Order: sequence, then C-alpha cells, then structure tokens
Amino acid sequence: MGACTHLYTVVTYSIYMDIPETHPRRASLLTRNKLVDGVERGITSKAGLIAHGRGEAFDYLLGERTGPVAERAERAAVKAMLEADNPVISVNGNVAALVPREIVKLGERFKAKLEVNLFHRTDQRIGRIIEWLELHGGKDILGGEPDARIPGLEHARGLCTDEGIFHADVVLVPLEDGDRAQALSSMGKTVITVDLNPLSRTARTADITIVDNIVRAVPNMLELEPLEDVFDNRENLSEVVRYISGRLEGISRKIKDI
Ligand code: ATP
Ligand code: MG
Repeated sequence: MGACTHLYTVVTYSIYMDIPETHPRRASLLTRNKLVDGVERGITSKAGLIAHGRGEAFDYLLGERTGPVAERAERAAVKAMLEADNPVISVNGNVAALVPREIVKLGERFKAKLEVNLFHRTDQRIGRIIEWLELHGGKDILGGEPDARIPGLEHARGLCTDEGIFHADVVLVPLEDGDRAQALSSMGKTVITVDLNPLSRTARTADITIVDNIVRAVPNMLELEPLEDVFDNRENLSEVVRYISGRLEGISRKIKDI
C-alpha cells in the first residue's frame, strides 16, 4: 500500500508541475493533463481525448460553471440513485482518469456498484481501470468478467455483468455513447447521464441529463440533497439550450460594442 500511495503522489505531482498557478486556464489544463496521464497509463483511449475536446467546447459555451439548471438535474440524479433498488455507476476511461476517488465515494454514498464498461473495450484496459479505482479506495469493482449482454448492441459493446448493469434498475452512465444509452433505456432502466453536449443522442435519450463537466458534477453529487419536486428532463434540457443561446446573444452584443 505504501508503494501505491507513493506512486500516486508522484503521478499527481507531475500533473500539476508544469502549469503556472496564475495561468487563467489552469483548471482546464490540469484536466487535460489528467487525461493525457490516463492515456499513458493505458486507462483512457485516444478517442477519449477527442470526446473530451467536444465536451470542452460545450463547457466553454456554458461558462465553465455549474448553473442552476445543471444543479437541478444533479439533485434529481441524487434522488433517483438514493431511491434505487440496484443502482450501478458505469465507469469508462475518461471518468476513471478525471474523478477516480470521487466516483468511488459516489458509489459509497449511493450504495451503488461500480462497473467498468468501455466503448473501446480491451481486457487489458478494463484490468488497468479496475486497479486504478482500487488504488483510489474502490472495492469489488465489476466489469472484469462480463457474463451478460445488453440486447441490441453488437459484439463487445454489449458486454456487461449480470449482477451489475444487466440487473440495475437505475444506471448512472457518464460520458456515454448514444447507442448504448438507448439500449439501456430500451431495457426499461432509468438512465442518468453526465454529458456537456445537450444535443447529443445520449443527452436526449436519458431520463436525467446532467449538462455539466464530470469534474464538477461528481463532487457536486457527493454534497447535494435530493430534489423534492418533479423533474422533467425535456424541460430541463430545453432550458440548457436557452441558457447557452441567451449567453451567446449577450456576448455577441458585447463584441459589437467593443
Ligand atoms: P452521442 O453518441 O450521444 O450522439 P457523441 O457521439 O457526440 O454523442 P460520444 O463520444 O459518444 O459523443 O460521448 C461522449 C460525450 O461526453 C460527448 O457528448 C461529450 O460532449 C461528453 N463529454 C466529454 N468530456 C466530458 C466531460 N469532461 N464532462 C462531461 N461531458 C463530457
Ligand atoms: Mg457517440
């Protein structure tokens, strides 16, 4: 354990080392460094870097903060996860690189199982992610030995575990692909996602869509109280799009006035 802690410290330090404290985009650059570190450790796929770029572009439009609309979806997610009979959190290579400790803690808060589930699946990457999560306090992480299949998904993309995703009533699938979100929804599960792109198929398929950066959404969900009112995902998503367009109109006026 001592050696592991040491390794973790060294790696964490290297992530922070080369970015000046005063850099205006420090938070965003640190996040990128964590993903690059994830690729180097064989946790994150190269395609995951591109997916993050798309997410960042939307985060820019949102002002890189959690607004009240995202917070409302986060509170709805907290409620659904706390009330679930068999809640499962699906973890991919981006989530593992960006919020390993926080996602383990979220599993503890919700009494949810964690299952590693990859779009670009290799057994080696699954094994490394499980080890990485264990290094951050995770226990009994599922996904290493899939024994069930999500109907409608070809090949390795459909693999999952019987005691985890297959039998879950509520699944939190952050940064998920649209086809897989749709397939989980078709199984009758309540699907919760975190996706910065409010226009993606995943965002429009899920029952609760949190349009926020995973690096803010997961820590928020560790603290937030469950939402008591009724939550309407379409209304919430539509409000996110209105928020972005209102913000852009304001910026457009300002640019003209300069
Ligand atoms: P879809 O398949 O749902 O139509 P897509 O093909 O555009 O969407 P995927 O690569 O399948 O996108 O899924 C990744 C999603 O995760 C993207 O919509 C991206 O915006 C989002 N994303 C990437 N990084 C983050 C992040 N750090 N926080 C939240 N969302 C993110
Ligand atoms: Mg996709």
